[in-house]
Amino acid sequence: RLTLDNPYGIDVTIFANEKVPIEPAAVRELNSMLTLHETVEAVHAVMPDRFAEVPLIRNVALTPDFHKASGIPVGTVLETSGFVVPQAIGNDINCGMRLHRTNLDADEVKQRADELETACRSMFFEAGRRIPMAWEHREAMLLSGIEGLFDVVDASFDEGMWSYFHRTDREDTLSRIDRNGNLQAGNIYGLESLLGKPGRISRDSQIGSIGGGNHFVEFQRVERILNGQVAHAWGLEAGMVTVMVHTGSVSVGYACGSFYRSKVREVHPTGISHPENGIYVLPIAPDVDDTGAIFWDTMSNAANFAFANRMFLGLMAWASLEQCLGETTFDLIYDAPHNMIWKEDKDGHETYVHRKGACPARGYDAMADTPFAHYGEPVLVPGSMGASSYLLAGNGFAGTNQSAAHGAGRAVSRGASMKGFEREFEAFMRQFRVVTPVDFRRQEISQRRDIMQKKLAELRQEAPFAYKGIGPVIETIKDAGMARPVAELRPIMTVKG
Ligand code: 5GP
Ligand code: MN
Ligand code: MN
Repeated sequence: RLTLDNPYGIDVTIFANEKVPIEPAAVRELNSMLTLHETVEAVHAVMPDRFAEVPLIRNVALTPDFHKASGIPVGTVLETSGFVVPQAIGNDINCGMRLHRTNLDADEVKQRADELETACRSMFFEAGRRIPMAWEHREAMLLSGIEGLFDVVDASFDEGMWSYFHRTDREDTLSRIDRNGNLQAGNIYGLESLLGKPGRISRDSQIGSIGGGNHFVEFQRVERILNGQVAHAWGLEAGMVTVMVHTGSVSVGYACGSFYRSKVREVHPTGISHPENGIYVLPIAPDVDDTGAIFWDTMSNAANFAFANRMFLGLMAWASLEQCLGETTFDLIYDAPHNMIWKEDKDGHETYVHRKGACPARGYDAMADTPFAHYGEPVLVPGSMGASSYLLAGNGFAGTNQSAAHGAGRAVSRGASMKGFEREFEAFMRQFRVVTPVDFRRQEISQRRDIMQKKLAELRQEAPFAYKGIGPVIETIKDAGMARPVAELRPIMTVKG
């Protein structure tokens, strides 16, 4: 636990251990980020009436997978009042993790891996998914997320993935998603093409896309139970198959983000120099102007889409399993964002907890009225393609503002992972089953060097050697008291976009 001295007297804490070294570049980026203190003071000085309260950076914490990104480090937890920092949640609004458990035995699934691979390829990449939606459905999804879908999609509308949706229980599902999978928005901005036309059902949509890079749908085996009591309460046993989904709002979130990033530049007062690092601040004063409201609505539209996207990817994995193994149970354990702002109330002030590549890890008291009121919030920490991931239970640790790391973090940049590691990569590809849109087993594909090389290059940037070891990250989370490990999950097969 390190406290970072800074000229502004902001409370900044970094969590690491000897095996999770802190990169100097990430610390430089963090120091540059803190200059937003100067930006917000300057903006406040010229337009104090645009702030409902005096702007304040309340605290900053960096989780153990802290690393350099573009402007704001991954692993940043930033709490403010009076203003928000739109950039401090990253470009992929509501990127997050979802975990399900099944009644399947991992050995049985491994025996059917070829079939499952074929089913997944068709489902995720070859028009096997069917998610028709009417304009009303999309409107409800963007305004009210998954809760909105439960409100407007009736049981008679059951084509494709909707037949799986109707097999899920509304109350149970919503209680297992951060904020019920619904960030209620008042309006929809700039997403006309996604909405389609009233009265018409359309099929082409972004919904059900994994997205590229390190997003995935992964079939896993519960390898080790690390906390028997919590695992039992959450229905997990060794040998069981779990399904983890990592994705966000894909191009919808990108569109929403571009929209509000340009708004933020517009409200920056003339006469005040623009922040050199491009980190703008957005004053929040609901009674004075509507830029804050537009920001919340746009962020919520994207976040609601991402909640629905993860839900459908889960349903698609369920359908793929049933195609190969017959009727299966598929229960949601938990779904939470790791790129997002949470509004909180602290001693009478509305505060904004920004998490960029950090997940909430709230304690049991903060989880009252959810299935997690006894053991705390489930925390999903993926390792990497081919390495174990972990499920933990949140402790509500104040030092990180009730947060934990959201992954292992990259060890080498995408570029650097392309140099060397020849043998490691070959060995990895021989022993691990990755499902991509390109079927390496098909002869006509394996003869197309161009296609093969492009896909292999993408996979190589995501191979295990490109990421830090997950072990020391989990140790740091545990030793600091952020969360308690509940189970280790080993990958059986990973679907990559
Ligand atoms: P991010 O949200 O920063 O894009 O990624 C979160 C984390 O996902 C990464 O830090 C890495 O630890 C993990 N990760 C990346 N690819 C995979 C994968 O294919 N499988 C699993 N289980 N984890 C992955
Ligand atoms: Mn993402
Ligand atoms: Mn992510």
